[in-house]
Amino acid sequence: MEFKTGTTIKLEGGKSAKIVSKLGEGGQGIVYAVKIDGNDYALKWYTCKLSNKKEFRKNLQTNIANGAPDSKFLWPLYLTEELNGSFGYVMNLRPKNFVEFSDILNAKVDFPDTKTIVYAALNIVNAFRELHMKGLSYQDLNDGGFFINMQTGDVLICDNDNVTPGGIKNPGNVGGKPGYMAPEVFRGDTFPGVLTDRYSLAVILFKLFCLHDPLMGKAYHESICITEKREMELYGTHPVFIFNPQDDSNRPVPRIHSNPINIWPRLPQYIREAFITSFVDGIKDRNARLHDNEWQKKLLRFLDEILVCPICGSEHMIYKFNAGQPMNFACRHTFSYPRILHVKNYSIPLFPGSKIRMCHINTDSDDYIKIEGEVIMNKNNNALWGIRNLGEITWTFSASDGQIRTIEKNNVVPIAQGMEINFGNTTGKVEK
Ligand SMILES: [Zn+2]
Repeated sequence: MEFKTGTTIKLEGGKSAKIVSKLGEGGQGIVYAVKIDGNDYALKWYTCKLSNKKEFRKNLQTNIANGAPDSKFLWPLYLTEELNGSFGYVMNLRPKNFVEFSDILNAKVDFPDTKTIVYAALNIVNAFRELHMKGLSYQDLNDGGFFINMQTGDVLICDNDNVTPGGIKNPGNVGGKPGYMAPEVFRGDTFPGVLTDRYSLAVILFKLFCLHDPLMGKAYHESICITEKREMELYGTHPVFIFNPQDDSNRPVPRIHSNPINIWPRLPQYIREAFITSFVDGIKDRNARLHDNEWQKKLLRFLDEILVCPICGSEHMIYKFNAGQPMNFACRHTFSYPRILHVKNYSIPLFPGSKIRMCHINTDSDDYIKIEGEVIMNKNNNALWGIRNLGEITWTFSASDGQIRTIEKNNVVPIAQGMEINFGNTTGKVEK
C-alpha cells in the first residue's frame, strides 16, 4: 500500500504528518517527504512483514526516548500510530549536499582529495564509537545506510531503526547485508553485537578506500554461479581476504578488480596492516578485530601525514620522502622536510597547512575536529614556517635565550629544532 500526497498520518503523542511526496523505496519500506507543523521531515513506512512487530516497535520507542547518540545519526524522532497492521517513524530529511555511500562505490561521485576520504573514514569510526560506548550496536550495515558530504567528509548515518543493545536478537530480524556481515553472523552462529560491528566497520572502511569488497577476488570471480551455497562459502565458512599475505587464492583479478589493485599499494603501510589484521586474524577471531579507537588513531595519523603543497594544493604522503632530505614533490615543487612535533603519542609533521587538533594537545580529549593550531608559511619567505595558536589557551615555550615566552591566541611562533611548547596540560617537542 502506498500513501497519496496529502494523506495525514497520526503520530504518537498527538501530532500528525502530512505526506508530501515519495522519496524512495527499499526492502523494508517506503520513505516519504512529510510535513509536521509546517516543517519538513522524512517518514519511513514499513511495507515488509515485521517478524516481531511488538518488540520492534518497543525498541524504536526506546531509541526515540533516549535520543540520538550523536548528531551524525538521522535518528528516529516520532513513531506513527498503527494503520492497516503497519506503522512507520519520522526522522530528519537528508540534507541535499549528502550523497549515498553506494553512489561512491559505484563511482557516480568522487571525493576531491584523499584528506576528505580520511575525514569521512574518521567520522564513520567516530559515529560507531559513540554508539558502542552507549552499549548499542548498529547491526544492519549496508551501503545504503550512509550519506557522505563529498566536500567536507561529514557523515550521516540513517536506517537507525535497527540499532539495538548488542548480543540480543534484533527485533527487526535483520542480520545485515552479505559482505558487510561478520562471517559468524552470516553463518547464523551468533547475533550481531559490538564485536561483529567491528568487522562490518572494517568492511566499510575498506570499501571507502579501495572501492571494493574485501572478500571479492578470484574465488568469487571464478564461481560460475553465486548460489546460496557458494555465497555461504565465500562469506561464511571459507572467507579469504583478497590481500591475505599467507593465502593468495582470492587475489583481485587484473583488469576486472582494478580499484583495489591500484589503490591498495598507495595506502600507508599501517593502514594496510590494520586491514590485514581485521580480515586475516579478525575474520576468525572476533577479539582480534580493531577497536574503534585504534582505527581512530591510525586514521588520524594518515590525515596528519598527508602534506598539501602550499603552492598548487596537490597532496603528497610524507612516507614517500627521506627524513631530513629535501622533498621533491610530483607537482615539481620542492620543500625542505618538515620537523616533527612529538606530543602525547602523536608525531605531527609541521608542514605548512598542518593542523594541531584538540586531541593532539589535550590529555583528556579525542576531538580531532577542533583545530587548536596551524602551521603557516611566511608570505615573503617560503622557507620560514611557524605555528599559529588558534585556540583559547595561551601556550608557552622557552626561547633560545632561555626566557619563557607566551604564544597568545592568533600569535605565531617560528618552528625551531629542539623547542618545547607547553600547550596547557601537555608539552610537545619539535624534533627532526
Ligand atoms: Zn605543488
